[in-house]
Amino acid sequence: MRVLVLGAGFGGLELTTRLSEEFGDEVEVVLIDQSDGFVFGFSKLDVMFGRTVAEAVRHPYRDLVKPGVRFVQTTIRAIDPTARSVETDAGRFESDVMVVALGADLDPGATAGLVEAGHEFYTVEGAFALREVLSEFDGGRVIVGVTSTPFKCPPAPSETVLLMHDYLASRGLRDRSEISLVMPLPLPIPPSPTASQALIGAFAERHIGWYPNQVIRDLDPTANAARLADGSEMPYDLFLGVPTHRVPAVVAESGMTVDGWIPVNPLTLETSFPGVFAVGDVTSVGTPKAGVFSERQAAVAAERIISLIRGGPATSEYDGYGLCYLEFGHEEVARVGVTFRSGQPPTGNYEPPSETLVAEKADFGSSRIQRWFDRSWSNVPRQN
Ligand SMILES: Cc1cc2nc3c(=O)[nH]c(=O)nc-3n(C[C@H](O)[C@H](O)[C@H](O)COP(=O)(O)OP(=O)(O)OC[C@H]3O[C@@H](n4cnc5c(N)ncnc54)[C@H](O)[C@@H]3O)c2cc1C
Repeated sequence: MRVLVLGAGFGGLELTTRLSEEFGDEVEVVLIDQSDGFVFGFSKLDVMFGRTVAEAVRHPYRDLVKPGVRFVQTTIRAIDPTARSVETDAGRFESDVMVVALGADLDPGATAGLVEAGHEFYTVEGAFALREVLSEFDGGRVIVGVTSTPFKCPPAPSETVLLMHDYLASRGLRDRSEISLVMPLPLPIPPSPTASQALIGAFAERHIGWYPNQVIRDLDPTANAARLADGSEMPYDLFLGVPTHRVPAVVAESGMTVDGWIPVNPLTLETSFPGVFAVGDVTSVGTPKAGVFSERQAAVAAERIISLIRGGPATSEYDGYGLCYLEFGHEEVARVGVTFRSGQPPTGNYEPPSETLVAEKADFGSSRIQRWFDRSWSNVPRQN
């Protein structure tokens, strides 16, 4: 049995870890990724706001030594879902079972003016480069704006404005700055009205402008203004954008997508191609795009692959649950649990900021690195 896992993000790492735990060397698992290491989404904000350094949050794949798993760093150029094979810069790989976990790509160029006159903080490179930009920023009008839907980790823009408030305050620049958040959603976290109200309250307390149900259409580099979809304009001195998301080009060209994303059975994560699963941000499974959802989907796909290989009945089903830690600024962390089940309205609960949750978030990151890479990592941001 050969299992091919495309993408070593949250989904691919969890899936291969589960298969290795179950089979060890019995099954040949190949994990392919073009990057040399993994970075948590939340670490992007930590680096950007100078809470830690880039080297401290990059987890090199060369440390992956799971029994039965071979990591290959290469770019996938073509996917054949019928043959369950891929063409890469390192040659052709074939399989009996294939899992697509290639995430969502970001396309800053899709928003006119964003590359020339703004910044994006969603790619690793973009967020890390902003560290320098922010350290040189002398105060002024700051906009954090979303350019399209869907976008990863819907709470991240809200966290960003709260952390921006602290950052500018600590540098003595808050009094001469304005911070605004432009979001296409009606609430910061729609499935949890309580969490949303807490965030809206925190924005008001800190005089952060909150613009819901609005999307950034483009930036006018000459006027230094963001143009919104409703035609209005917002001038800025510093624009931080959430760029357009789409499947990686190789996925789009594979013929696996419908309306831009890979459709899957929401309970089993199977695609319409026999022996091919898809998990995480690359799918249209119906949950938000976030690592915790990718990870939980990967666990279900892994259980199903184990049953397939062992020949037993597959019982594991995806429940749409995800737990998210929310940076509230002032060194505080809250927690939101949400459930997205197909055919039902999403639900969510909220736990307000506490010291326990600061520790819990740190443990969330550290425990994943221990599990996936077999090494310890302190996920406690430190000032640098
Ligand atoms: C600022 C920010 C904060 C976030 N905070 C959180 C958070 O607190 N909690 C949370 O759960 N989520 C968070 N997220 C979202 C989270 O990072 C993603 O949703 C998650 O990584 C998705 O996992 P995935 O496995 O589906 O895809 P990814 O982790 O994106 O992995 C896909 C992998 O595929 C590889 N790949 C793509 N194309 C190719 C190719 N052609 N060839 C080879 N390899 C390829 C990529 O290199 C990548 O490693 C945040 C995101 C951002 C931007």
